[in-house]
Amino acid sequence: MTFSYCPKCGRKLIMKEIGDEGAVPFCAECSRPFFDFSYPCVICLVTDGAGEFLLIKQGYVSENHVCVAGYIKRGETAEEAAAREVAEETGLSVRSVRYISGWYHEKSDNLMLGFVVTAEHGDYALSGEVDSAGWFGAEKARELLSGSRIAKKLLDAVLSE
Ligand SMILES: [Zn+2]
Repeated sequence: MTFSYCPKCGRKLIMKEIGDEGAVPFCAECSRPFFDFSYPCVICLVTDGAGEFLLIKQGYVSENHVCVAGYIKRGETAEEAAAREVAEETGLSVRSVRYISGWYHEKSDNLMLGFVVTAEHGDYALSGEVDSAGWFGAEKARELLSGSRIAKKLLDAVLSE
């Protein structure tokens, strides 16, 4: 995201040299810079900790299986967002959350922060945003995520630990 107008007062931003950052969009009225940024999101590989992974299908996102993902809310940590998204979308009780790596998703301009989330291997209760889900072994999960660049990198990173 690049700002052209001030998100606080609506004035057109000017470019101003700010230290090592170089020229940055700046509001002369509010006297503050508005740096370019990418929306921070979490992408969560849900595991039962015993070799199986929960993948979901969301028609509005993709025809393929995907990992649980969502935007980090204001005031929330990335870890809190990961636990919240998994609980909300799957209804599973979350045991632990661990950061793996970050990847930039150019098409959506999102910074995807990848987590492995360990949850109870119980019955899932899907949210309205999720069409279906299933627990899969590592090989099947790799196959199902083959069309999803970042989800596959996340799975590969976890499997190679
Ligand atoms: Zn302003």
